[in-house]
Amino acid sequence: MDNINVNINPEELRDVECEACEGNLFTPSFLIKKVSAIQSPTGQAMMIPIQVFRCDNCGEVIDPSS
Ligand SMILES: [Zn+2]
Repeated sequence: MDNINVNINPEELRDVECEACEGNLFTPSFLIKKVSAIQSPTGQAMMIPIQVFRCDNCGEVIDPSS
């Protein structure tokens, strides 16, 4: 089972479609989460980028967990 990731054939994978318009082309975008100094483990305010994908057709952000 070591090479389970190596044997993935893209042809067999499901295309992700936009839930809003069924488009299948996406642009990577970032949500930025702001962490205040009080919340931060380092004691300094910081920003954490979270990459999401945005539909090229309608702009809908897709949920990576669905
Ligand atoms: Zn869309």
